[in-house]
Order: sequence, then structure tokens, then C-alpha cells
Amino acid sequence: METVNLRRHLHANPELSYQEYNTAKYVAETLRTSGIEPTEGIATTGLLAEVKGKNPGRKTIALRADMDALPIQEANNVSYKSKNPGVMHACGHDVHTSSLLSTARILHEVKDQFEGTVRFLFQPGEEKNPGGASFMIRDGALENPRPSAIMGQHVFPLLPVGKIGFREGMYMASADEIYLKVIGKGGHGAAPDLCVDPIVMASHIIIALQQIISRNANPRQPTVLTFGNITGHGATNIIPTEVNIAGTFRAMNEEWRESALVKIKKMAEGMAEGMGGRCEVEISKGYPYLENNPELTRRIRAAGEEYVGKENVVSLDISLGAEDFAYYSQVVPASFYRLGTRNEAKGISSYVHTPTFDIDEDALKLGPGLMAWMAIRELEF
Ligand SMILES: [Zn+2]
Ligand SMILES: [Zn+2]
Repeated sequence: METVNLRRHLHANPELSYQEYNTAKYVAETLRTSGIEPTEGIATTGLLAEVKGKNPGRKTIALRADMDALPIQEANNVSYKSKNPGVMHACGHDVHTSSLLSTARILHEVKDQFEGTVRFLFQPGEEKNPGGASFMIRDGALENPRPSAIMGQHVFPLLPVGKIGFREGMYMASADEIYLKVIGKGGHGAAPDLCVDPIVMASHIIIALQQIISRNANPRQPTVLTFGNITGHGATNIIPTEVNIAGTFRAMNEEWRESALVKIKKMAEGMAEGMGGRCEVEISKGYPYLENNPELTRRIRAAGEEYVGKENVVSLDISLGAEDFAYYSQVVPASFYRLGTRNEAKGISSYVHTPTFDIDEDALKLGPGLMAWMAIRELEF
């Protein structure tokens, strides 16, 4: 089936992270139609499949797509609009999955023309901690044999359709969730002497924690600490008992990440104590930072230039976003590249994770063949 039809089916029937049961069934059926027998139930709703060329033991490389959608109500009026209320493929994972299905079909059709094995990873739960990629790895997706490289593609609404982007080295950030509960002693707003004010403590803590970024982080390495949620249920004349703060910490270096998390905890606890209260710190660890192997990226970029022409290949900037593809990059040489999907003339420019996100489907004419070509070139290397 044409990639556009596959994509539209997936787009109309989105499923949330770790609930991709029907999606997985659809992926399995489509692979079988192409003559490829998948292994289902990897990481519960994930799948693995392989296409073996001549001399299959020579080399194995892996290609990955993610399958989950987001808790967003779609606002687009298109024939393939989401049929599941409050659930939407707003990050393009329908594009990644349909594109990889077509890549698999292409490679299956030309399997007597290359040497080696291509493994396909269809993973659940990219959008939700701890990340479906970690379960795929746990379930052996990178074993027997270990692939010499893995690549993944992501739509990019900032890049015009027809263009693709690569980046060597550090590309995306680690992301950890920080939860602070600042506990004082509540009371009358006019009698602060009888209270321990958690609002004032929380204010000091938020400002002080920013100094971990400005005074402790290596200024040559991007890192971010943002608190986007603060709640203290007092009133104009009531000092509350506690204040809750939630935020995200991002980094591009695993050593710094670990030491920063310790510093955040120590400083928040110490400051609250110094002001007569206490602070409970909870850290939910997310994805590691994503490192694009420079040599692999140079090679697939060269193959990409052959496929779309040098003028259509751009160098990407660092992003402080996070991607669970990063887990793979900690195990084998990996490269995560971008597929342009923007077309302002058609009014397609919304960013991912918005209710109006969509792609120019012309990108689907490019994506599958591009990935197949890069895979074949990498097998030849
Ligand atoms: Zn996303
Ligand atoms: Zn995504």
C-alpha cells in the first residue's frame, strides 16, 4: 500500500504511549503483506522484523520508528482526522511508522542486491517516561547480533519539505523531571512570626537553583533548568503549609547531569532547612542525551546528499528537546536525522505537539526511499 494511505490510517487511529495494540497489529499485517514476518510483543506493543540480503551475516544495521500518539485533541479538518477523541499523532510518529513500513517493503524487494541484514524496530512509548526504547533494548532489540549502526528519522516542521537535516555529535538533551515540596508552617498572613513561610522559601530556592546553571555548569555545554509549575494554596491573608514546584532539567553531558541532580537536591534541602522548614526533592529520571556518532552521521549524510542533492541537505542546530532514541545511541553508533515537512504555501507550519500540527505528505515520497538508500550505503561500508 502507498505510504500516504498507511500514514492516513495511522493518523486517523492514534493510540497513546504503551497502548499501541491496534497500531502494532496494523504494522504486523502490513509487514506480512510485504512478505516480511515480524516478531510481535517486543516491549509489549513493539515489533521487530528483519530483511536479509545476500550474505546476511556480514553485517546488521537497524532502523527505528516510534508508534505512539499524544493526549491532544486534533483541530485539523482533514479527511484523515483522528477518530479517537483527545488523542492525536501530533509528533509525526504516524509518519515515522508508515515511512519505515515502506522502507522495509523497498528493501525486501531489492534484497538480492545488497549484502547484510536490516533490522526494523517499531517501538512503543516514545513520548512517555521511561521511554519505549529502554524496553526494546531490555527485550533484546540490539542483540543477536548487535547491529553496527542504528538510524532514526523525525519529522521537522521548521524544515521545508524536500529537505533533510543531519548533525554530528551531541544533538538532543537528557530530560529529568524535578519535583520540590517546600514545607513550612502555615498561619495568618498578618502573623508571619508564628509561621514558617513556604512561599518565601520556595522563591529563594527557585532563584538559587538557577545559579547551579549559571555558576556550576560548563558554559560551553548547553543546559537548562525550568520550573513551569508552582502551587501554594494560601490566600491574601493566609500563609500556606506547603508549596509544590515542578520543572525540567536538561543537559548534554551525562557526568554533568548526574552532578547537577545531586547539587539541585542538596541546595533545595539546605536552603529550606536554613530558613526553618524543609524541602522534599523527588527526581524522575528521563531519557539520556542523544549523541549522533560523527562517522556514521558523515556516511549517511553523504548517502542522503546522493539521494536528494547536496543543496537539499542542511546541518542541524543542537536541540534541548529530548528523544528516547538517545537510549540506542548509548549502546550502538547511532544517528538521528530530520525529514522536512513544512510547506507554508499550503499553510502547513504548526510545530509538533500542537492541535494543528500536520505535514506536507510530499515528504512521504522522499522518506522511505531515502532511508532505504542510506541503509544500503551503510551496509556497503
Ligand atoms: Zn513528541
Ligand atoms: Zn516525536
